[in-house]
This record gives sequence, C-alpha cells and structure tokens, in this order.
Amino acid sequence: MEAVSQINRESNAASFERKLHSFKGLGIYTRVVNGIKIHAIISGWFKIKNTHYNSDLGPYFVLFDPTWTEWLPIFCWVIEHPEGTIVIDTGETTLANSPLYLSHTGFNGWFNKQITRFNVIERSEVGTQLNSLGIQAENVRWVVLTHLHIDHTGGLKYFPKSEIIVSHQEFVKPYYAVEQTHPAWFRPHLVDYFDDAGSTFEDGFVLTKANDVIIVPTPGHTFGHQSVIFMTPDINLFFGGDACFSFDQLPSSTVRGINADSNASRKTLMKIHEFCKQSPTIYLPGHDQKSVNRFFGTPLDFNEIKPGFASGEGE
Ligand SMILES: [Zn+2]
Ligand SMILES: [Zn+2]
Repeated sequence: MEAVSQINRESNAASFERKLHSFKGLGIYTRVVNGIKIHAIISGWFKIKNTHYNSDLGPYFVLFDPTWTEWLPIFCWVIEHPEGTIVIDTGETTLANSPLYLSHTGFNGWFNKQITRFNVIERSEVGTQLNSLGIQAENVRWVVLTHLHIDHTGGLKYFPKSEIIVSHQEFVKPYYAVEQTHPAWFRPHLVDYFDDAGSTFEDGFVLTKANDVIIVPTPGHTFGHQSVIFMTPDINLFFGGDACFSFDQLPSSTVRGINADSNASRKTLMKIHEFCKQSPTIYLPGHDQKSVNRFFGTPLDFNEIKPGFASGEGE
C-alpha cells in the first residue's frame, strides 16, 4: 500500500492505523439516493471528555474532567450533485496530532487543545479520500460548513477554489472557533436564511437550482450552527453536524455538549425531530458511530416514522 511509508513516519499514526483497521472505521461509504451518489467519509477520529459528551454542564466541568470518551468518528459528507459536488464539513488534518497544534492561538486554541485528542492520518484527510473517489478537491463546487469548530474546518486547505458556505451568524459570532487555523484565503460566502425551506424550518438557504439541497439554521451548539438537508421525493438525508451527538437525543430533546445557547439547542432538537416525523428522514450526526448504519438504513429502521411512508430505499 502506497500509504504505508507515510504512516510509518509517525509511530502514533501507525498505531492509530491499526486501530482504524480493527474498528473498520477508516473509509468511504457510498449510497445512491434518487440517482445521486452520496458518500460518508470518516476523515479521522477524536476523543472528547465524558462530561462533554454526556452532559450539558458547561466548559468548566468539561475542562476538569479527567476522563475521555472512546474514539469518535469525524464525518464529512459528499453529494455528487449534477449541479456540482457538495462537501459538507472538512474534518481535521494530521496537524492536529502534534503536541504543538494550536500553540499561540490564544484562549480558544488552548481550550480546544485541553478538551480534544485527535487521531488523523494523511490517508484519512478529506482531500485524500476525495481523490480515492476520483474527485479532485479543486472541482468541488460548494463546501458547506455546519460551523467553525476545528474538527469541521481543518480540511479547508483542500478547497481554495470552492465556494465555502458559512452562516452569517456563525462568522460574525463564532463560539470557540480558532480562526488562526483558517487558510489565509478564507473568505466564505455568508448566508442568511431567506428562502422558504418548505418544512418545519420555515426559512432556509436553497443551495441548488433543483431545490433539493437546503441549508437550515440549527443554532445552539454554536450561535450560527447550520445543517444541510438533501431532499428527494422518497427520503431525506439530514446532515446535522454537531446539533447533537446522537440521534437518541432527538425524541427527548436532550441537550448535551458545550452549547453556546442551550435553549436554542433544545428548540433545534425539537425542530429536527418534528422534521423527521413529518417526512421520511435519515438523520446523520457528525460524530455518531452509528451514522454509517443509519446512512444505509431506512427511516423505518429507527421507529421514528409512522408506517405508511415510503421506505425510501435508494438506487
Ligand atoms: Zn462543534
Ligand atoms: Zn464536531
């Protein structure tokens, strides 16, 4: 394998490679929905504090919690849309493995360093994985960032030619983002939500002329967090970023994690759940180990949708 020599350069990465294999985690998963290829890419893994993952106690408790979660996947998503390829979030890069990562980036960088442990290898970075799909990063038309946390922006370096889409609110009022990690050329297209989303979200930003890819505001985790919905007549795929860690938070609107606004988070979870109840939807959190299974499932598998809806099988 041509990637072996790169991996051996760093023993940390090499042991991680073994871990990935044992976890069957590094990879690309592809599903065709309504004739359009969708890819789930695991662009690396990270750990966060257990208090972060399981509670809504806030930054102070997270900082002083000595215990860590298992490795959590960092998902990026790719829609090979006829109007242009869309990448949703860009993951992290191998830079994040270094002890010096985020040095001299002020309080936010220091805080992020304290509460995360990354394991990313070159072969898992989003640009490398796109290559293996035969997609050149420079040919990606849109990159939609759900928000500006480092585990979503680390792969931006691959997309200097793409239109990067960030919520206006996220850009002017980021929450624990580390802007020093952004490429010098980073001038995203800032969106507000003036289009009719035709759903419980009411307002959104319609990305495609086909009206099948819609960006909706899902604030709470950060002030300007947004999500992407790929809509088809049979099934929707809802790329939820960090609106929640796992699908099971939706029915009870249970807020977990460090949130810019917990009340907004709760309302967002209610809206997403309502949306999932109204039309067959597969909800895909950005760091849920079950996201791959969900990706290949049908909404009916998750007991969230009333019988009677179309099963929504792709292909
Ligand atoms: Zn986040
Ligand atoms: Zn994240």
